[in-house]
Amino acid sequence: MSGIPVGISTCLLGKEVRHDGGHKHSHYCTQVLSRHFEFRAICPELEAGLGVPRPAIHLREHDNGLRLIETRGTADHTPAMQTFIDRILPELADLRGYILMAKSPSCGMARIKVHNEEGRVTRRDGRGMFADALIRAYPLMPVEEEGRLNDDKLRENFIERVFAYDDWMQNVAGANLSAKALIEFHTRHKFQLLAHSERLYRQLGPMLSDLKSEPLADLADRYIQGFMEAMGRRVSRGSHVNAMQHLMGYLRDSMADEDRKVMIEQIEAYHRGEVPLVVPMTLLRMAQRREPVDYLSTQQYLTPYPDELGLRNRV
Ligand code: SF4
Repeated sequence: MSGIPVGISTCLLGKEVRHDGGHKHSHYCTQVLSRHFEFRAICPELEAGLGVPRPAIHLREHDNGLRLIETRGTADHTPAMQTFIDRILPELADLRGYILMAKSPSCGMARIKVHNEEGRVTRRDGRGMFADALIRAYPLMPVEEEGRLNDDKLRENFIERVFAYDDWMQNVAGANLSAKALIEFHTRHKFQLLAHSERLYRQLGPMLSDLKSEPLADLADRYIQGFMEAMGRRVSRGSHVNAMQHLMGYLRDSMADEDRKVMIEQIEAYHRGEVPLVVPMTLLRMAQRREPVDYLSTQQYLTPYPDELGLRNRV
């Protein structure tokens, strides 16, 4: 089986494409995520024709906007980068996520230094030129910086979004769009939505109650924007507890008293930060496996990504 298509800055795969001929190998990407993602590697500077090694470049503010200029001198690589961006962006529509290298004037997602014409730093809120074009072109696509994947919660959130977006792209987007596909997507992600944002959960459900009120494609656009916005929200322990309690409501009748007691104890222990999410979640999955409830059998909240990623051991 091939993996989910995800873009990545080439230097993160250990390829020596940086301006100084080095790399920024991410073992997590090459050894763990590569088992599930099929990486599409892009080095914008190399592919824009800047070569390796090449002079270091930075973002410089000019009257006509931000430019990519060599740090020692005035050579302007903006036109070459723009030509590359215009060529490559249409080829990325199929990606379900993107992992970018931080601090780069091309790939950096945030907090990139911007210089004035004398080369002094004037602000630190820039975005790499390629990253900016990517995020503008594909606002729904989950995008994350590799360094931030060291944070357990950010990593779990990014990977969960990639899998959910992949579901959308495979089963609802484009030619697959139908009222049934849209409703089924919403149904299987209900508890995830509830955990991420109860407010958006309460908006998105009613949005689908009258599918004839506007063209289906427009409704689907509004829906997925709200959905991905919700999924980008971090989930607090309290929100997970709320979602798990809702889920447990469906299993209550099929559980023995003692099992129910243990489940409640472990949900509370999770709430207090004494056990990770995987503990109560495993109990819920066990109960569902023992006496399957139809409605829960498709719920992605129980298994939003492969267990072997171990993400719920750490949140
Ligand atoms: S950060 Fe981007 S432009 Fe720089 S070496 Fe890595 S892939 Fe290439």
